[in-house]
Amino acid sequence: MTEQQKKECIYRDLIVVGSGPAGLAAALYAARADLNPMVLTGSTLHGQASTTDIIENYPGFPDGVGGMELGQLFQKQAERFGAEVVIDQATSIELGPKRYCIETYGRHYEAKALIISTGATNRKLQVPGEKEFAGRGVSYCGTCDGWFFKGKDIVVVGGGDSALEEGLFLTRFANSVTIIHRRDELRAGAILQNRAFNHPKIHFIWDTVVTEIKGDQGVNGVTLQNVKTNETKFHPTQGVFIFIGHTPNTELFKGQLELDDEGYIVINKHMETSIEGVFAAGEVADPIFRQVITSAGMGAAAAIQATRYLESLEEM
Ligand code: NAP
Repeated sequence: MTEQQKKECIYRDLIVVGSGPAGLAAALYAARADLNPMVLTGSTLHGQASTTDIIENYPGFPDGVGGMELGQLFQKQAERFGAEVVIDQATSIELGPKRYCIETYGRHYEAKALIISTGATNRKLQVPGEKEFAGRGVSYCGTCDGWFFKGKDIVVVGGGDSALEEGLFLTRFANSVTIIHRRDELRAGAILQNRAFNHPKIHFIWDTVVTEIKGDQGVNGVTLQNVKTNETKFHPTQGVFIFIGHTPNTELFKGQLELDDEGYIVINKHMETSIEGVFAAGEVADPIFRQVITSAGMGAAAAIQATRYLESLEEM
């Protein structure tokens, strides 16, 4: 008996791969269309948004909502209508003609239609010391790791919404938060900029990149380089939080689905990928908006289109 034959086999009309806002919104819509969708959660239950302390721009929550709480609410709502959320992670996906097979460590899944909502992963700085000190002073999640930096002086790398939002959150724990940005102008929105500029614990170092992360047992500093003068200096710090954007999680689809130059899945306005019956939604297919609400909207649209596709198969 081969490894694959030994595995439990599960068949569904529709499988959603990924459990962030796009995946769970797709599951809700598909469940309400009576498709009994199955959601494979992937390694980050409820996706990246669940690691955000507070989400203030998702409509319906005038006082904001915790990222983790919003993910749980999405799941509960989808399950109420019959979606099945399974904690499992695809190790390979084969997009054969009208037959989509997903392998995980213990199971084999097959579906007539797929919605891919595998999201994106934090981009890495790719400097010496980053890998070595990951989890020992280098972090990509303020909500997860902030507590460990009580009373410490830390740096945040990046100039977008994430860097500022997480930097502001980290002021709850850290003695000081220094934001290091490669330009002299932030990419983040005006509200976050105002909050950061007016926060007594937040400082900025402009036109500067981190070229090395140093330490022994844990991080004790970073080497900084001014991109205008090329001057380098050592900046002591006990924590390095990196928020420099994201890379789409499309490794499993390379060579199977059409991807753009940055690796995002190419979709049309119906959320259809280059393979019939395979749809994509959320950050895995969105290099532009990347908001919880836009991802959820894409998930709903993908489920509506997948429902139409499955109906068309029945009519054949
Ligand atoms: P982002 O908008 O892509 O910003 C990434 C930042 O990192 C930019 O400032 C960029 O510099 C810098 N960067 C990129 N590569 C770098 C490198 N190798 N070294 C140093 N710096 C580097 O990513 P994000 O902040 O994670 O936001 C992603 C999306 O989520 C955005 O659409 C954002 O609006 C959204 N978001 C929204 C909220 C909110 O509304 N509250 C919160 C978080 C995220 P440059 O500016 O020079 O390119």
